[in-house]
Order: sequence, then C-alpha cells, then structure tokens
Amino acid sequence: MNIHIMTLFPEMVMGGLNTSIIGRAMDKGILSIEAVNIRDYAYNKHQSVDDYPYGGGAGMLMQAEPVYQCYRAIMEKIEAGREAVAESGERKKNLCKNPPRVLYMSPQGKVFHQQMAEELAEEEELIFLCGHYEGIDERVLEEIVTDYVSVGDYVLTGGELPSMVMVDAISRMVPGVLHNDVSAEFESFQDHLLEYPQYSRPEIWHDKRVPPVLLSGDHAKVDAWRLEQSILRTKERRPDLYEAYCNRET
Ligand code: SAM
Repeated sequence: MNIHIMTLFPEMVMGGLNTSIIGRAMDKGILSIEAVNIRDYAYNKHQSVDDYPYGGGAGMLMQAEPVYQCYRAIMEKIEAGREAVAESGERKKNLCKNPPRVLYMSPQGKVFHQQMAEELAEEEELIFLCGHYEGIDERVLEEIVTDYVSVGDYVLTGGELPSMVMVDAISRMVPGVLHNDVSAEFESFQDHLLEYPQYSRPEIWHDKRVPPVLLSGDHAKVDAWRLEQSILRTKERRPDLYEAYCNRET
C-alpha cells in the first residue's frame, strides 16, 4: 500500500510514523508512506500558502492552488508508477483503476472507526489532506476530495494528528504489517465488543491475583471467560456498542 500525506508539517507526520511497527513495515517495503509538503507548491516568493477569507472572520485559510498543485504532483507520481508496473507486464489492471481516494481530515467529516480502517486498508493508494489554520478554500476540496473524515467531535489545530491516527489504524490492517498470529487475535470492536482484560507475569501484583481460569490450561474455559468479560466490559463502558452486539444478526 502507498500512502501520500499532503501537509504543511511533513517532519511532524513522518517523525510519528517512522517508528515501531509502522516504521518496520516501511523498512520491509510492505508499506510506503510519504509526507508531501504543500508549501513546496506555493506560487509566491515568500512561499506563503494562506490568505484572508473572503467575507471577513478570524484566522487564515489555506489557498486552493498550492493544495491543487501538490495533489497533481502526487497523482503524476502514482500514474507514472502504474505505467511502469504495466510496462513491466506485471499487473495491467492497475491502469484501469479508479483514481485514489483523497481523504480530507476535517471535524466536519464522518467519524473514523475500525470498520472504515479495514475498508481503507484494501486500497492500493491513499491520499490524505491535512488542513491548518481555519481550513482550506472550499473550491479545491470540491475538486479533489472523495471522503471527509473526522477523528472525533472536537477541533484540532491541524489535520496532521488525525492523519497519523488514521494511517496507524489502517496500516495495521494491511497484511504482513502485524505478525499473522497477532492479526488473527480478537481485538476491540470485532463483533461490536471490547477486548477482555489481560494479564502478564507475575501471578500476584499488589495483592491482585491473575484470574485462576487463565492459569488452568483449559482453552475452552479461557475462551468462555474472555467472551463473558468482553460482554460485561462492553455493557459497562460502551452501552452503544453493547446494544449493537445484542441486535447483531447471528
Ligand atoms: N474552521 C474549521 C471548522 O470549524 O470546521 C476547523 C479548522 S481546524 C482549526 C484546522 C484543520 O485541522 C482542519 O482543516 C482539519 O484538517 C484539522 N482538524 C481539526 N479538527 C479535526 C478533527 N476532529 N478531525 C479531523 N481533522 C481535524
């Protein structure tokens, strides 16, 4: 999977994503993540990319043209990559594919969730657009954005943290990024449930014992206990998910 992040702060984004599991997946070539600096596409000598909003109001707005040129440069790179693959006779179907999805990080978007991460992990290319200041001129959004995505109902200073959150959640769904045994494990949000509590050594810590069933070696009992704990925890912490679990089609 190839991920392209349009941002005014490429170091911030790459600094966060270059480490640990995602960093190792990049080193192995399973993932490619690049942060592209929108400022490189500014068309004035001061390299400014923002201006006052028409109609007045507080703050500055990112201008349409640098964002558009940055997007065009990424698209040209993607198209060149696809042509190279087709010429090498490998996967001609790539050329016929739809243009990549462009995800604008926005508090006005659909709130990101695990199922969305799973769907997006199936894409071959993804483009993230990070706004800053008061956002981005609407006209370029209309022209290039396919999805408006929020990380929650609060306003951040920029789209960099949301894009990092999304790239992290999507990347771990890409085959090979996690060890196969880990990715097959039950995790929160699977089947509308939160994960059960987990314990590691020592058996007793601060007078608290690991639940005896986990030491029993009886896998069926362990599984039953974990499911029960998942249900209890979901009911207590996320009644909305619990309701979905109760109403699920079996
Ligand atoms: N004026 C905008 C509004 O009221 O909708 C908010 C702009 S915000 C200060 C600047 C940028 O941060 C946005 O363009 C967006 O890219 C990003 N951002 C802020 N909150 C976000 C959220 N909850 N989810 C995703 N992106 C967010």
